[in-house]
Amino acid sequence: MAADTFQRVVLVHYHEIGLKGHNRGRFEQKLVDNIKALTCDFPVSACHRISGRIVVFLKEGTTHDEQVRAQEFIATIPGIQRVSAGFKCLAEYDTMKELAVEALADAGEFQTFKVQARRNHTNFEPDSMVLNREIGEVLCNAFPEKKVKMKEPDVTVNVEVIENQCFVCARSIAGVGGLPVGTSGKVICLLSSGIDSPVAAWKIAKRGATCIGVHFSGRPQTGDESEYLVDDIARVLAKRGCMHQYFVCPIGDYQRKIALSCTPKLRVVLYRRLMFKVANALAEQCGAKAIVTGESLGQVASQTIENMIATSDASEKMVLRPLIGFDKLEIIDEAIRLGTFEISSQDASDCCTLFMPKMPETHAHLDEVKKEEEFFDPSWIDEIVASAELHRV
Ligand code: ATP
Ligand code: MG
Repeated sequence: MAADTFQRVVLVHYHEIGLKGHNRGRFEQKLVDNIKALTCDFPVSACHRISGRIVVFLKEGTTHDEQVRAQEFIATIPGIQRVSAGFKCLAEYDTMKELAVEALADAGEFQTFKVQARRNHTNFEPDSMVLNREIGEVLCNAFPEKKVKMKEPDVTVNVEVIENQCFVCARSIAGVGGLPVGTSGKVICLLSSGIDSPVAAWKIAKRGATCIGVHFSGRPQTGDESEYLVDDIARVLAKRGCMHQYFVCPIGDYQRKIALSCTPKLRVVLYRRLMFKVANALAEQCGAKAIVTGESLGQVASQTIENMIATSDASEKMVLRPLIGFDKLEIIDEAIRLGTFEISSQDASDCCTLFMPKMPETHAHLDEVKKEEEFFDPSWIDEIVASAELHRV
């Protein structure tokens, strides 16, 4: 078939339920913008909405392998339910049949298949029943060892006639779901270099929030190893459009002051409150509406309900803890899928390992904590915010 009679495409399906109502247009436009911005390293020639889907057109000469890579990448972008790969051609019956064979050949391993044809107007003859039957026949002849199965086949060959164009797709994979990043406002994500906080950022980004990271480093009392890990983590999140910038705040000297003056067992809660106060000031600067952490109930001593009450109290902005009900193994699974697990598994000294008490308080009382905090100099927050280093990814 002449190369100019068809074009490779990736068809993006999004979740109807999440995109209902008067916000729909805005959500769809955001998703189109996100896909365009994130696929600049792929051979994409155009990307726009057609009849309730987003079609990503690939450049002429794009190979099947390149198409699969683009499809698999697009499936990782928040807001996408399913991604199909196939072809666009003019609505000419013979071309459609040939491309149906090609699309099924590209679909990978399968035993059973069916054809699902649709047309969005009646000008195109034949109708969808006939299309199903006749394209099905062509496929049965081309793949004699495969079987037609109407209920839950391995592969569905979708043939969709829209005006004078036709889309023929077979290889279909699940997307990560959620909402397009940028449709739920901004949040500040407390990013340690550990396993949990990148997953928390991912969870909240998948609900449409744009994440701005903040990492508290133990510098100058520790080295800057954790900062390199956080940079790698931010890049993984950036690849999916979840994070474009993060701050690094060196707080080692302030931790030292706290360690020298406060009851040892309350140090962790006090460090956390300091982080929340700085995060609030940065949120105010950036127009972020909430603070996100990777805490999970009872996971470690500092994550009891009492301790979370004592730390949340330091935050005027709402604190979101998307992992609160997750256990560690579930979080690790998510981190592996996200691609941050290996980075987070590397050892790095950061502020969390600095001046840690032997026996941290597990049930902190807010009034005791506040009493200890009386010696904090309020100018610390301004100093730390002023020294925050902004990194763009
Ligand atoms: P993580 O794996 O995310 O480090 P964790 O199980 O080690 O979590 P903690 O060390 O108690 O738990 O941290 C709880 C949360 O506080 C983290 O998920 C993160 O959101 C925030 N946090 C902890 N340390 C830092 C840090 N150095 N910089 C920024 N945020 C931090
Ligand atoms: Mg940690």
